[in-house]
Amino acid sequence: MIYANCKWCHGRGCVFCPREAEKARERAMQPIFTARRDNPEEMQELKRVMGKDAIDHAFGPEGSGVQEIEFNAGVAMLLRQLRQPRKKDDNEQNDQKE
Ligand SMILES: [Zn+2]
Repeated sequence: MIYANCKWCHGRGCVFCPREAEKARERAMQPIFTARRDNPEEMQELKRVMGKDAIDHAFGPEGSGVQEIEFNAGVAMLLRQLRQPRKKDDNEQNDQKE
């Protein structure tokens, strides 16, 4: 078995591939929202989606609890994906200027 993102063989195929593929599958199932600590934009999203205000609202009188958090997290992740190509273009333009 070959797993393309295997950290041991980088997709050439090795005895660790099945285990790495399994780990990736587990990772893919879990997260409703992820943010990288070194990415201020994503940390800001995290705060917006799962910060105190968001939690207070979700579990307050007008909130819908965990479902609300999950929904907001899903929307945030979707928006991030939609933004990605444009962000890449911006970077490319910046590169050309330099
Ligand atoms: Zn491998």
